[in-house]
Formats: sequence, C-alpha cells, structure tokens
Amino acid sequence: ISQPDQPQTLEGHAGDKDLFSKFDDIIAMRQGLLDSGVEDPFNLVMEKVLSPTRAICNGRETILLGTYNYMGMTFDPDVVEAGKQALADFGSGTTGSRVLNGTYQGHKDVEEALKDFYDMDHAMVFSTGYQANLGIISTIAGKGDYIVLDIDSHASIWDGCAMGNAEVVPFKHNDIEAMEKRLRRIPEDAGKLVILEGVYSMLGDVAPLKEMVAVAKKYGAMVLVDEAHSMGFIGEHGRGVVESADVIDDVDFIIGTFSKSVGTVGGFCVSNHPKFDIMRLVCRPYVFTASLPPSVVATACTSIRKLMHGSNKRAHLWENSKNLHKGLKDLGFQLGTDEPQSAIIAVIMPDLQQGAAMWEALIKNGLYVNLARPPATPANMTLLRCSLCAEHSEEEVGEILEIFEKSGKAVGII
Ligand code: PMP
Repeated sequence: ISQPDQPQTLEGHAGDKDLFSKFDDIIAMRQGLLDSGVEDPFNLVMEKVLSPTRAICNGRETILLGTYNYMGMTFDPDVVEAGKQALADFGSGTTGSRVLNGTYQGHKDVEEALKDFYDMDHAMVFSTGYQANLGIISTIAGKGDYIVLDIDSHASIWDGCAMGNAEVVPFKHNDIEAMEKRLRRIPEDAGKLVILEGVYSMLGDVAPLKEMVAVAKKYGAMVLVDEAHSMGFIGEHGRGVVESADVIDDVDFIIGTFSKSVGTVGGFCVSNHPKFDIMRLVCRPYVFTASLPPSVVATACTSIRKLMHGSNKRAHLWENSKNLHKGLKDLGFQLGTDEPQSAIIAVIMPDLQQGAAMWEALIKNGLYVNLARPPATPANMTLLRCSLCAEHSEEEVGEILEIFEKSGKAVGII
C-alpha cells in the first residue's frame, strides 16, 4: 500500500540501522583469527566418538581433554541400555510440558534418584541446567529482593538474576570479606539470596563454602549452590563441594546438570524447603517448555544411581587431576590454581593469538582441549581448559603431557 505522506527516509533504507552492527567487533575478531590461518577452535566436529576419552575430530583420532564427561558415563553399558529401552517403550519425545502431558514415569524416577543421591526431600528436573538456574533464581528472587553473588558466576546465573528483576550485588571472586560487606549493607528485612558455585568452571577452583555459607546464614540469606562441575566427583558420595565442606544441611537449593558427570542433558534443583513443590506451578522455564525425552531421563536415572557407588572412579579421577596438574607445572606452564582442586586444570595463555596457536598445535597432535576467552573467562584471560575424565588411563595422561610438551615448545610457550 502506498503511503504518499510518509517522509522520504522511511521510503528508502537510508535511515535503517542494521541490528547486526553490534556484532561487528566480534565478527572482526573471529575473521582476524581465521585469516591468521588457524583451524577454527569454535567449529570442531566430532565425526565419530569412540569412547568417553577418544573421538575422530577433523579426520584425526583425538584424545578428548575438553569434555565435561568427568565420570565417563556416556558409554556405560547400563546407561546406554536404559536409554534404548525407554526409547522403545515410550517413544522419542514427550511433546509437552511437565505440567501438562510431559511427565512420564521416567521423570518421576529420575527425581526419586536425585532425592536419594542428595538425601533431600524435593527434586525438580528441568530441560537443561541453564534453565534450572534461570527458572529457580528468577522465580524465588524478584523485585525488591537482593541477590548477592560471586562476580565469576556462570552466564545462566546472571541471566536468572536479570530475568527476576532482583537487586543484584556481585562481590569479588571467592572473597569472603567482600561478600560479608555486601550483605551488611542490605536492609535487614529484605529477601536475600546468596548464589555460589562449588567449582568455578573457568579456573577449576573451589569456593570456600564452609565460611561463605556461615556468613550468609549470619545475615539471614537463603543460599543456592550450583554444583554443575562437582556432582559425581567431589565429596564422599559425589554430592559436590557442599558435601566435602560439610554444609549440605545449611544450603537451601542445589542446582545441577545432567550434561556433565551424569553424561546426558538436563538440569535440576534439589531442596529441603517445605514449600518447594509450588515451583512446579510458578517457575516459567519449567512450565513453558517441553520436558526431556524419555530416553534422556532413563539414561540420567541409571547414571545417577551408578554414581552413588562411584568411589573407585572418583579416586582415579583425583589421581588423573593430580598427575596432569603436576606434569603441566613441571613443564613450565602457568596454571589457574596452585594445587589441583577439581577435574578442571586451566592453562593460562599469554593472549588469544598464542592461545589459538597452541590450541591448533594440540589438536594437530591429537589432543582436544577447550579454548576459552573473554567474556566467559575472568580477568580477560585466554585459557586452555583441560577437563579430565575418570576413564582417562594413567598412560593417557602421560600421552597428554607429551603432546603438551611438544606443542608448547613448537609454539614457544614453554
Ligand atoms: N551452571 C554451570 C556452573 C555451568 O558450567 C553450566 C554449563 N556449562 C550450567 C550451569 C548449565 O548447564 P547445562 O549444560 O545443563 O545447560
């Protein structure tokens, strides 16, 4: 329809603003990296997966040291069989929300497994860990409430804070005094939520939960701990840093994911709060999305029950973590932590260019690690993040160190 009265600029495109122009800097950064001739670190394809620790990537057999498959459950025969059986019995998907047609027996079973795993009263399963954080945080902390959180918190935590419209008060990473200072300034009668992570995924360091939870309680705050990177591995029963720090009874919510030690996809929250179940009706990222496929919840359920008895695997994973940390340190690499604190060992690179060159040298020599860069990393760091698996053998860790030595010397980093 012609609108002759409209001003000239609206007829043509002269005044249009391309909404993609805000991405020009990152487009240029990526192009600059590719123009330097390196393999694209963010475009790796696993053409075939041979085991939890080996795959064919870009045509080469590669040792995997950059997955979150900490406990190596992805090829566990019982886990795979449970998935196949559920696929045959219940079909490929639920096609609906948990609060309508999307709750199958398998969803109830995996929630029971979580309650047993954590010895807690309530468990609620989400479609991803991202949605678990988004949903729980935005629903419990709204306008007028305060969230005190570590500045290095995961994106899903920040997004949950933003979605709920609470006052967000960050404090310096792992700094107990800074956290207390923030809490002291908040009006006494305001609703308060402290959000912490057991293991911080970029540097692989652990939070001082014992002290932090005590401070949070002193100021009457509720506490949520994201145990994404510690579930299955840290603590006597693999319940996470809340278990190793002996604060599990003092935290109000534990958030976790099935996409790491559990070896599939999905997220959850467990809690002892007597009113917790109302979340199922008021939490939008739970209500307004389809539930997990039956095969996924069946694999998660089997995996979680097996992880309860995984102490041998946990011990072996600690050995791997210690051996890799010591080996890399002895080779002269700069690491994210002085001592190994988790299954993540972060190798600090001088800058993105050298980090990308090192990443490429490693992949060409048959080793995959994560290249991590800002804004995902703290303090503008470029990191090569190594995440170990309980299925890496001692010999494989030796092989990994040889590849690091060869690549580091070729690139001139050591
Ligand atoms: N929390 C933390 C600390 C994470 O690292 C991640 C994923 N990397 C998530 C939550 C989200 O988990 P998911 O992959 O299940 O969405």
